[in-house]
Amino acid sequence: MGSGESGTGAALLAHSLCYEVWVSEGAAIKPAYKKELEEQGIAYEEGGHTREKVLAAGCIVKSPGISPQMPLLQEATQQGIEVIGEVEFAARHTKRPIIGITGSNGKTTTTLLTHHLLKKAGRKAVLAGNVGHSLARAVWQEKEAEIFVTELSSYQLEDIVHFRPAIAVLLNITPDHLDRYGGSFERYAAAKFNLLRNMGSGDTLVYNADDDAIASRLATYSRDVQLVDFSVKSPAMAYADTKGLVFNLPGVAAHIPNEVLPLPGDHNKMNTLAAVAVALLLGVQEEQIIKALPAFRNYPDRLEYITSIGKVDFVNDSKATNVEAVYYALTSFDRPIVWIAGGQDKGNDYRQIAGLVAKRVKALVCLGADNSKLKEFFGDMVPQISETTDVEEAAALAWQYADNRDVVLLSPACASFDLFDNYAQRGAMFKEAVLKLKQRIDDCQN
Ligand code: ADP
Repeated sequence: MGSGESGTGAALLAHSLCYEVWVSEGAAIKPAYKKELEEQGIAYEEGGHTREKVLAAGCIVKSPGISPQMPLLQEATQQGIEVIGEVEFAARHTKRPIIGITGSNGKTTTTLLTHHLLKKAGRKAVLAGNVGHSLARAVWQEKEAEIFVTELSSYQLEDIVHFRPAIAVLLNITPDHLDRYGGSFERYAAAKFNLLRNMGSGDTLVYNADDDAIASRLATYSRDVQLVDFSVKSPAMAYADTKGLVFNLPGVAAHIPNEVLPLPGDHNKMNTLAAVAVALLLGVQEEQIIKALPAFRNYPDRLEYITSIGKVDFVNDSKATNVEAVYYALTSFDRPIVWIAGGQDKGNDYRQIAGLVAKRVKALVCLGADNSKLKEFFGDMVPQISETTDVEEAAALAWQYADNRDVVLLSPACASFDLFDNYAQRGAMFKEAVLKLKQRIDDCQN
């Protein structure tokens, strides 16, 4: 059920394994996926689910976007039909080890970096999950894979039954997607912890010791799993000191100097601690890591430097769709910030960043269809506030507020769907607006 990257990936894998496959999509199937299904002769329906046909299945592989509360799925479960997620299905059909990376923030960065370090060391590592291809498609296509480096969202982890990663990485658990979990942080955290539920002897959990939500829940986790903690605050098996990153892992020690770290901010130190720990545990050498790190390039929209106009830097952090990500963005600069924020609110609690905003933000440009919550909360805290629904105007307003060596930072704390298709479109349009602004200013000055 569902025909996006997950559903189509699962269908392609299942078909290659000679299962009888049928795809049911409630909306329209995207043309590229439809073409693939047709090329393989896989039957499908779109625009709705035919109850009788769905209930005739032996097993339903559901896409993570489909709620487990969907009545038809509930009915299927009641009738004894197994309903599983695409990651579960994929994992059942590979013997290769899987590294499972989850957290509220930093999943993509850490997954990409882990994959980069393994590839640079000559390993046949394959990127999968929420980044790159679905795990099912990767299992189908990558017959030579030595290891799958997999980004896992809480949605994907809800549908785990036997899935057992050889190495799990738990980056952080902070409020996000609470709309999916009836406002319950407990239920959201439980979905993340599902990652660990089948792990046992011989497996390793790399986790953030600074995160209370993780540490408190781990206190009652009694499996025979090797635990590797990391911290940017105090000594741990992997931790940050003033000179760099220090690793004292079971069987291996290493030191990575600050000079080779490719990404700014404390949050990226955490991501790098986790990624390097995994690489070391898998036998990658310290020298290989030191050589590989400077060549790493993150995906766009994550504290991405765009350009400077005069001495003012413009930074695109469009992927910061929750308050925690904005917290780390604001701490990543030691200069005054003109902050562009707003969009579709996910039940944000801004108290966590109030102190930081008061100290570091000199002006706020709200970029959303409804900015009332932001204006109300920060109205007395930030000296200058304006609002717009136009991204070019947002860039121009921010430029007017900025002077000297300030930073203009798009770090929205909100989803993008009120004004944009997705966060990537928001980021791309912001970059375009900034570059256009720079061109206009250059033209005027010449
Ligand atoms: P995810 O895949 O979990 O959404 P990304 O790596 O795409 O994570 O980063 C999303 C946003 O979160 C970006 O704004 C980024 O700067 C911020 N971020 C990255 N790593 C962390 C972290 N460890 N803690 C908090 N925020 C982070």
